[in-house]
Amino acid sequence: MAGNLPGSILIVGGGTAGWMAAAALARAVGRHTRIQLVESSAIGTVGVGEATIPAIRGFNHMLGLDEADFLRHTQGTYKLGIEFRDWTRLNHSYFHPFGVHGASLDANYTHQYWLRLNAMGEGGRLEDYSLCTIMAEQGRYMAPVTDPRNIMSVVGSAYHFDASLYADYLRRYAERLGVIRLDRKVVDVALRGEDGFVEAVICDGGERLAADFFIDCTGFTGLLIEKALKAGYEDWTHWLPCDRAWAVPSSGDGRITPFTRSTAREAGWQWRIPLRHRVGNGHVFSSAHVSEEQAREVLLANIDGQALAEPKLLRFVTGRRKQAWVKNCLSLGLASGFLEPLESTSIHLIQTGITKLLDFFPGRQIDGAEVREYNALAQGEFEAVRDFLILHYHVTERSDSSFWNHCRTMDIPDSLKSRIELFRRRGRVSTRARALFTDTSWIAVMIGQGIMPETYDPLVDLHPLPAVRERMATMRARIRQAADSMPTHEAFLGKQAAA
Ligand code: FAD
Repeated sequence: MAGNLPGSILIVGGGTAGWMAAAALARAVGRHTRIQLVESSAIGTVGVGEATIPAIRGFNHMLGLDEADFLRHTQGTYKLGIEFRDWTRLNHSYFHPFGVHGASLDANYTHQYWLRLNAMGEGGRLEDYSLCTIMAEQGRYMAPVTDPRNIMSVVGSAYHFDASLYADYLRRYAERLGVIRLDRKVVDVALRGEDGFVEAVICDGGERLAADFFIDCTGFTGLLIEKALKAGYEDWTHWLPCDRAWAVPSSGDGRITPFTRSTAREAGWQWRIPLRHRVGNGHVFSSAHVSEEQAREVLLANIDGQALAEPKLLRFVTGRRKQAWVKNCLSLGLASGFLEPLESTSIHLIQTGITKLLDFFPGRQIDGAEVREYNALAQGEFEAVRDFLILHYHVTERSDSSFWNHCRTMDIPDSLKSRIELFRRRGRVSTRARALFTDTSWIAVMIGQGIMPETYDPLVDLHPLPAVRERMATMRARIRQAADSMPTHEAFLGKQAAA
């Protein structure tokens, strides 16, 4: 053990959250701190969760994972964004792309020039300025690069994968670096009399597992953070009324699209996530507006190919743990809160939780100011995602069901109100809204959901109109040309698998 580092860390729970934490901590401090993970194979994991956002590349890079190897072991595919069907109104669709609009990284003002042309009925679709969207529409894929002179630098790319296989992959990684796994059911938590810190967890049969620091990754139950430490839970169901999901894998239709599809349904929405060997499907719904049985039927009536298993029902309460870190216990994953997978943010919030933990890594003494800072940052991240999700539901023209009437007319958080107001005027994105999602994301979803700004940034008028027209036409052409020359997503994966 070294200096002021904690001598031992116990991770409780071995789902995606537990093994992501184990892998990252083993890499960062495993040579100095004893890391153990206890999980119960009798309890199992939530077993869904397949889509990610581009930041996951940074996490895998930090671990030094080989992309091709990791994708082979997790049945992974690439994701360039999300296609939203029927969200704005029935028979309408738009694409939320990763990366940026424009043909180079310094073109982040593209949507302002587009707004100017659009006001005159010119310029085509905003999507025509997004390379990720055109690649997705054509079913193409090529890896992004960092060289800003290369048009591929505007591409953002994430993955679809089987989260259980990802957890297994990270488990092997962490065990190689010395993490000790214990298969035990935890039945109780022992708190220290003098300060209420966690002393040990007690397993079935009475065994005590003590540590200096604990990470609660026990899923929805929050065995340490809630049951023992009473951190409290902020319920956001009044803004995000979906509280159930049916999930089922299907054989698919043979196409491996490089994007997630989200189709709005009468009382919720359905995901379609293509992996190499199957398609993941799920129907997220509000039980106040549709019965579980009806929701199940809707899902099974709208999948590609044959169902490969019985649908699985998951119940959840949308919200966040009021304090993600209490005393010597940090919660990650579902134990720290849940936001529905509409923008694939759960695994990302695990990642940012781990990054923040490393930023405020606890010494032998826990520092109250650091804990408060961690909790404030975690709150900000959850709220930014929450607002982004509410935007999809609230800014809609749909009035064909009680669910959509509720979402369209409900009150929304002030933070989101001001973001919408700001955008509605001149198409500006609040810098505060950039916490997890880029300007491209907010712009694509705001415009996609039907918020057309009244005007554009006045600085755009510094450029003569013919020059703007020419620049934008060149941009559209360069983007099309780049996409046309790429391999299909299936061909790219095939080559990778064969290498
Ligand atoms: P779990 O998977 O529930 O793991 C809990 C662990 O704790 C297990 O190992 C269990 O054995 C252990 N445990 C529990 N109690 C005990 C005990 N008493 N003793 C010992 N061990 C115990 N995220 C995304 O990023 N993208 C998605 O597309 C996505 N889709 C989702 C769809 C749905 C319907 C749901 C519900 C979630 C989705 N998620 C998604 C979230 C994602 O699945 C989770 O964030 C992720 O899997 C992390 O789960 P977890 O590790 O926190 O919890």
